[in-house]
Amino acid sequence: MTLAETGIPACEQIEGCYPPVAVRARGPVAVFECFQRIPCDPCYWACPRGAVLEFRDINDLPIVDWTRCNGCGLCVARCPGLAVVVVDETYAPGEGLLKLPHEFWPLPAEGEMVDALDRSGRTVGRARVVRVVGKRRGDTPVVWIALDKSLLRDVRAIRVRHEEAGGLCG
Ligand code: SF4
Ligand code: SF4
Repeated sequence: MTLAETGIPACEQIEGCYPPVAVRARGPVAVFECFQRIPCDPCYWACPRGAVLEFRDINDLPIVDWTRCNGCGLCVARCPGLAVVVVDETYAPGEGLLKLPHEFWPLPAEGEMVDALDRSGRTVGRARVVRVVGKRRGDTPVVWIALDKSLLRDVRAIRVRHEEAGGLCG
């Protein structure tokens, strides 16, 4: 099954865009899972550090200079395709941090426990919400979650449980 059929990238595609271990060991870094040539470049304009290289063609896929990226997450909030996350393997012993775009309401609260979902929407663990950067200037809210380090490569969304509402939504 291809990305076009399922909306889920193949393992080789994910591997191909994942920063090498030496980059991840330095601290938070953006991961661009952007695989389709479409006329789109807000990530380039969002980055204050020049880490997203200038596009030669509006349909180009983003090329990232990880040496310039500090994982600020501005591109996460600006990407209309929800194709960017920030991964931090240095957050805490045994625990990593993800900065994820989150378009569902209501937003979770800081300190809340949420379901951690993989690219297919399957729950693969639990995560703690560390920070919520709300909607600004039309940007997508960004939710920072702390979770088991082994899940950093697989988790790409969260589900907020609103028990009082009598079910799951998110
Ligand atoms: S995380 Fe920040 S520094 Fe890194 S590419 Fe995105 S906007 Fe640039
Ligand atoms: S803004 Fe998002 S979808 Fe558009 S080119 Fe950049 S990473 Fe891809």
